[in-house]
Amino acid sequence: MGSKVLLWLMSGSLVVLACLLTRVSRYGPPHTNYDAAVYFDHAHLRTPSSKADIVRIVQSAAERGQKVRVVGSGHSWSSVAVSEDILLSLWNYTGVVGLDRDEMEVTVKAGTTLNQLNRYLNDRGLAMKNLGSISEQTVAGAISTGTHGNGMGFGNLATLVTGLEFVSGKGELVSARVGSNVNMFKAAQVSVGMLGVITEVTLSVEEIYLLREVLTRHTLDECLGQFDGIMRGGDHVKMWVELFSETCGVFAANRTSETRPRDNPNWTAKNIEVLVMEAILLISSWFPPSVPHVMRLIFLPSSVFSPYDRVDTPPAVLEVPHSLPVHWEAELALPFEGCPAAIRELRRIVIEHRIPANMPIEIRPVMGDDIWLSPNYGRLSCHVTLTLYNPSPRAAHDYFQKFYDATRTTLNLSPRPHWGKYVTNATRKDLSTMYPKLADFEKIRSEMDPRNIFINGALRDNFGF
Ligand SMILES: Cc1cc2nc3c(=O)[nH]c(=O)nc-3n(C[C@H](O)[C@H](O)[C@H](O)COP(=O)(O)OP(=O)(O)OC[C@H]3O[C@@H](n4cnc5c(N)ncnc54)[C@H](O)[C@@H]3O)c2cc1C
Repeated sequence: MGSKVLLWLMSGSLVVLACLLTRVSRYGPPHTNYDAAVYFDHAHLRTPSSKADIVRIVQSAAERGQKVRVVGSGHSWSSVAVSEDILLSLWNYTGVVGLDRDEMEVTVKAGTTLNQLNRYLNDRGLAMKNLGSISEQTVAGAISTGTHGNGMGFGNLATLVTGLEFVSGKGELVSARVGSNVNMFKAAQVSVGMLGVITEVTLSVEEIYLLREVLTRHTLDECLGQFDGIMRGGDHVKMWVELFSETCGVFAANRTSETRPRDNPNWTAKNIEVLVMEAILLISSWFPPSVPHVMRLIFLPSSVFSPYDRVDTPPAVLEVPHSLPVHWEAELALPFEGCPAAIRELRRIVIEHRIPANMPIEIRPVMGDDIWLSPNYGRLSCHVTLTLYNPSPRAAHDYFQKFYDATRTTLNLSPRPHWGKYVTNATRKDLSTMYPKLADFEKIRSEMDPRNIFINGALRDNFGF
């Protein structure tokens, strides 16, 4: 008996140690993506430190008929940043180029991370208008996939771009700015790295503000029944839904006139809680039939989604404040009004097919825009993010694909997959239906990159370029 307990304790400690090791921060250009499922070959890695170097690398690649892909922080689950020849990292090309306080715009070198930018702005009493769940991404990487935060009145991060510059596949520097060269600008705001290497990005910023965030706990029925009212109930509202326990946490953040941060939860305790939860998730992932019971056990007690009311800076509130268990994600942008039906359908799929969905579903509204390849093009969207911890790749694929198929065919919602997440087998035909401006994008893309040097296998499969 004693030795069994010892064995359990030892294996428990190993799990916690493994979880801790996954959090060791990375230095230098990434070798893998976030969940280590995608590998970036460094055999032909280039890390230029000037614009002239970037131009030279692209020109030489074009002359030799080599492919080039830029990797940012490698935080995409999809293979969009994988290169078949030259892997370009802007790790050495970071920093702020200029701040224009009259126009409230900041221009950064494209390899700058959102974390670096947030710190720079905060030191000067400024802030981003919106942010996603993390800020490890590079500015260019984030805008290139349409990375978003949440809020009915807030577009994705690419909508904050007012100008950018890139090196085309012909090795030429091209600039595009809001209001001039409109077609080029609309193509370049979200381009999944297909127009060229972005060198500089100008973003609109604002005076620093504080957000008051209130977390409330509901049943799934309450959240779906009052979906519209809840989502319109604040500047930045998101839901986390757990399907087996049918519980729902609503995080609503509003700009406040309060002047100091207050009442932040104890993040050390939260991080320990997450580590313990990760250990439980890992063990339950080895026995998939146990997942529904484990999830009910974790999410039904009132302590999970336990209400809080706090005030803090935008990064502190808008980003997930504690480390997340490393996991897999797929995400679809749906028309806002179709979301409750999609979540009900998702629950049916999970129960009927016994899918071990071992993490909450995240639901976030994002304002519509006019950016050609933006998942939010032309419609107010509701982004549904499916997360899985330690899944078998096949099980994850089946789960994500089933939801994609259901929203596309059964519910007819024209789902648009997030470019940086697990991309389902959407074809060129599907993408043409989802993105009415795809042909216009292709016209500009083929002018900018006539030799297709920026197209890799994953993009060829999806776009057919
Ligand atoms: C834990 C986690 C949380 C996340 N949270 C959110 C979220 O809240 N909201 C959301 O929408 N997404 C989220 N994402 C997805 C993430 O924001 C995107 O995948 C983003 O593109 C990653 O940025 P990156 O710098 O790592 O770029 P990479 O993943 O390295 O590259 C993404 C794309 O950008 C291109 N690219 C990068 N730099 C350049 C450049 N200089 N010029 C041209 N093309 C370039 C790459 O070629 C590739 O096509 C999350 C991802 C993780 C791992």
